[in-house]
Amino acid sequence: MIPLYSHRNDTVLVVGLGKSGLSAARALSTAGARVFVWDDKAEQRDSALVNGFTIFDAESGDMTELDHVIWSPGVPHTHPTPHPLAEKARAAKHTLRCDVDLLATAQPSATFVGITGTNGKSTTTALTAHVLTEAGKQVEVGGNLGFTALDLAPLGADGIYVLELSSYQTELTPNLHCATAVLLNITPDHLERHGGIDGYVAAKSELFAHQKYGALAIVGEDDVPSRTTAQYLAGDGRHLVIRISAESDPADGVSVRDGVLNDNHFDQGGTIDLRSLKALPGKHNWQNAAAAYAIARTNGVSSEVITKAFASFTGLRHRQEIIGTMQDVTFVNDSKATNVDATEKALSCYGSVYWIAGGVAKAGGITALGPLFGRIRHAFLIGESAQDFATELSQGGVAASTHPTLEDATINAGHQALEDRTKDATVLLSPACSSFDMFKNFEERGDAFRSAVLDTWPEVAA
Ligand code: ADP
Repeated sequence: MIPLYSHRNDTVLVVGLGKSGLSAARALSTAGARVFVWDDKAEQRDSALVNGFTIFDAESGDMTELDHVIWSPGVPHTHPTPHPLAEKARAAKHTLRCDVDLLATAQPSATFVGITGTNGKSTTTALTAHVLTEAGKQVEVGGNLGFTALDLAPLGADGIYVLELSSYQTELTPNLHCATAVLLNITPDHLERHGGIDGYVAAKSELFAHQKYGALAIVGEDDVPSRTTAQYLAGDGRHLVIRISAESDPADGVSVRDGVLNDNHFDQGGTIDLRSLKALPGKHNWQNAAAAYAIARTNGVSSEVITKAFASFTGLRHRQEIIGTMQDVTFVNDSKATNVDATEKALSCYGSVYWIAGGVAKAGGITALGPLFGRIRHAFLIGESAQDFATELSQGGVAASTHPTLEDATINAGHQALEDRTKDATVLLSPACSSFDMFKNFEERGDAFRSAVLDTWPEVAA
């Protein structure tokens, strides 16, 4: 836990009692602060009360008495409707801050690397932390991924915090001065929460706005809002900008073309071949690798060490995670693909796919996957969307069947792939849907797939 001694005599309100709010309330209490808490849900307040916290009087509590208001990133404060407590806090001249901001102020001599973007944050964060650790650096990794900010270890001047940051967090971290801030990409997401795409881009851009003079901004070039952000930062006279791309070759940047990383910034003309890296398949992962490379080089890691560390990276669970291979059939768990965009990335990586999909579909269904239908040998469909997907796939000329459970779909997919003896076949769980109709979350869905594969074909694990 991060010690928050400077808050010993403070009176603090923590709003939102999920993972990060509770961790902030605990760390502040441990430091000796007087902590009030609030959650809009009565059951969360009840359990906080049982755990010894004092509930704030949301109706008539005086915000001017508070030294700080710590706001949980998951609680909307401006859009779609302003939260009454946020309005009251702003009227009392408080700046809303989250747990990550407390970490930043408590560890001012450490180095901070902040990674944001619509997609690829977790992968880039994990890959960066892996490379820096392999290079012998003292690293703590967390934020939106794994441990919350205040549950990390204190590092001091020799350490590097590698933080995955969502747009909900970047707008609540005014004191986070990242030595290196990364924006991978921006596609429309969470628009309701930010009042539209401009609000979403603005929330992400806060990460750069709070950097100190001369700090490094690593920015993706492959979509218009990110490109515009890079241009703005390059012109503001305060940032050093390194552009990264998996589509083009930005001057003085780091790009990946046809699977080969080209360094035109640190080592003019240096290359790393990424094509054989099983844990980083596809263009989207090459963008992540370009970012991790640029971060590592900036932190003094050589290209040779990065190459070795990329090769030993095992990837993250549930994101194109390879469970194993048997008789030329590879089983891949991409349960994190809860929307069509993510599934499109996965399908693009494999030639002969026995595709397991379905659940709670997002608007637009799977229509956007039409250009990739040719890669699908057979679709094994589950959940609420099974029948609709089956109809659409059949109309697109793809054989499809519906299944009562994920286990049944998995066993059928595996048997068919093994029987067909297709070269380099992939049994891919990449549902393009949320899991809530059949599972608690995408992790539980991915675990069920893994168990079905390994229980049926134990030799896959070998
Ligand atoms: P995040 O933490 O931003 O949600 P993840 O690393 O968990 O990102 O990846 C989630 C999904 O997004 C992956 O399954 C993959 O399909 C897709 N993805 C990963 N990296 C990228 C990228 N750089 N650009 C676009 N999509 C990506």
